[in-house]
Amino acid sequence: MSLILKWALIAAVVAWGVWTWRRMQVRGPQSETQRTRAPKPTVMQPTQACLHCGVHAAQAEMVRGARGMYCCVQHCQAHGDHAQS
Ligand SMILES: [Zn+2]
Repeated sequence: MSLILKWALIAAVVAWGVWTWRRMQVRGPQSETQRTRAPKPTVMQPTQACLHCGVHAAQAEMVRGARGMYCCVQHCQAHGDHAQS
């Protein structure tokens, strides 16, 4: 019984490996053309953690409070702070 399970596991791993390999073969050239067709500049925006929940967000999109930066106005208020203009 355990021998059957072992072979079933091996078959599943081999099938997964072949499927992954085939997927990579299909996707490879496509992603290459997409990359050359639409060069997307990756601009690294400075991020900061929300003082209330700790979620990292782009500083430009964050709410500035008196004590720190927040991901949204609700968290600014929930932290007992008020948004600065
Ligand atoms: Zn937050």
